[in-house]
Amino acid sequence: MGHGFTCDSGPNRVALVGYLEEALSNEELARVEQMLRTRSEWREALRDVTQDMDPGEHSVATIWRRHRLTCPTRERLGAYLLQALAPEETDYVRFHLDVIGCRWCQANLDDLSSTVETRPSSDMEHDRRRRRLFETSVGHLPRRNR
Ligand SMILES: [Zn+2]
Repeated sequence: MGHGFTCDSGPNRVALVGYLEEALSNEELARVEQMLRTRSEWREALRDVTQDMDPGEHSVATIWRRHRLTCPTRERLGAYLLQALAPEETDYVRFHLDVIGCRWCQANLDDLSSTVETRPSSDMEHDRRRRRLFETSVGHLPRRNR
């Protein structure tokens, strides 16, 4: 049986076993992960396939953990959005998103960015900056001669 399964043909056990055995190409892996995230029948099929295999080593939780091991945490992604990370951490997250192209983190980031934008904290930040500016300019006012 060759590769090239299609996404619309329902759960593909061969692809799922390949996924579990980490025998897929990156492209195929991304497609299977996409299916697992969006289709409950794929998740059920994965559970079936998993049960046919070694139950300890290949539990779904173990597999997901392994594949997401290098993913930055949600907190870190949030800090990345707010540009609050150290330069090397920023580089890592950017590499993870742009070069590795992790869809999981991209989805997380999209989710986070919609939350961040609606938060009023940017107003507070703006206020504080304005106040600081005000205080600074007061400090620089020419001293009045009496
Ligand atoms: Zn990731």
